[in-house]
Amino acid sequence: MKNINCDKDRMKDKIVTFSKFGDTGRGGITRLALSEADLKARSEFTKRMKALGAEIITDDMGNMYATFKGAEDLPHIAMGSHCDSVVQGGNYDGILGVMTAMEAAETIVTENIPHRHPITVMIWTNEEGARFDPAMMSSGVITGKFDKEKMLASKDVEGVTFGEALDASGYKGDESNRINPKDYMALLELHIEQGPVLESKKMDIGVVEGVVGMVNYEFEFIGQAGHAGTVPQKMRKDALLAASEAIQYLHRELDKLDDKLVYTTGRINCSPNVHTIIPDDVKFTLDARHQDPKVIQQVVEIIRNIPSELAKCKVSYRELWSRKTISFNKELVDLVEKNANEYGYSNMRMYSGPGHDAQFAADMLPVTMIFVPSIGGNSHCEIEKTPVDNCLKGANVLLRTILDIDKK
Ligand SMILES: [Zn+2]
Repeated sequence: MKNINCDKDRMKDKIVTFSKFGDTGRGGITRLALSEADLKARSEFTKRMKALGAEIITDDMGNMYATFKGAEDLPHIAMGSHCDSVVQGGNYDGILGVMTAMEAAETIVTENIPHRHPITVMIWTNEEGARFDPAMMSSGVITGKFDKEKMLASKDVEGVTFGEALDASGYKGDESNRINPKDYMALLELHIEQGPVLESKKMDIGVVEGVVGMVNYEFEFIGQAGHAGTVPQKMRKDALLAASEAIQYLHRELDKLDDKLVYTTGRINCSPNVHTIIPDDVKFTLDARHQDPKVIQQVVEIIRNIPSELAKCKVSYRELWSRKTISFNKELVDLVEKNANEYGYSNMRMYSGPGHDAQFAADMLPVTMIFVPSIGGNSHCEIEKTPVDNCLKGANVLLRTILDIDKK
């Protein structure tokens, strides 16, 4: 099977075509879930998959399944990702997983490659959560993590609910069509890395072992407000100063842990946030991610050891939310690695920092992911890019892995 390859010109054509749906005119796209641009992308997907002989169904969350019949009556092998984007996003996040799956299927069809199992190319609805909160909405509903009624009531900024948009889209199907562990044997999601590691290590393929666990904490500092012109420095209880000391403490201590740990203070609220008033209430968040639960535990220890008073201000913290590390199916992970090696593509094992639909689906069936490099690590922005050669390499590994699974 060594000589099977996806087609570079077809891959390029898909990237160019799909980048038109929601084109911002500045190299990126805004393709919010179930928007006009999303519907255009979905109808292009339908047109192309039907032309190759696929049968297309949708489920009650608008997820799409384009299936190419297998020679035998066996469970499906699925591959795909999402085709919605963030506001002013790029042409690769999500949609590349759809386009490479389309290309792998197109290669199977045009090369007449026999397969026993049905092969299904998937599109997940509203992965980004950029129009309807939360992210990974549909995979969350299917795997029982989110309440469907609540999700249908989720509103966009104009007050349109997800349920209304879904009804109007024409993509609402039956609940019985959902991907499920009985009728599906595996799911593969190719995705851009969305970070700089693969590119900096000159790697073609990221063999994804799972999605890192994370904790998100909020810290609060209570001081005393006062006039900026009257209270002597030594008598102040400046909550912002306390917060800055806490950030220093956290960085100093967290930097002593494993160097794969990533952590971020992305939000800070300073009250009253007036230039003539000493701040009396400051809050900030800390998001920390690592694949090893032991390291996450060490992070929590460091948080617990923060002094209860800093700069004469009262310090408190609380966990906002957390998620456990998700491990992908070992056998599938090994297959991805084997196939990357057989093609002679440089590759490394890694964990995903961002969340993906695949991580929810991993609760119900064997799942893995394939990463391809992001130039400069850029993602969720218009300059997001993966060179077509890398896209093709990813598609090849995806194709060969699907065909390996088919032999089982
Ligand atoms: Zn994505």
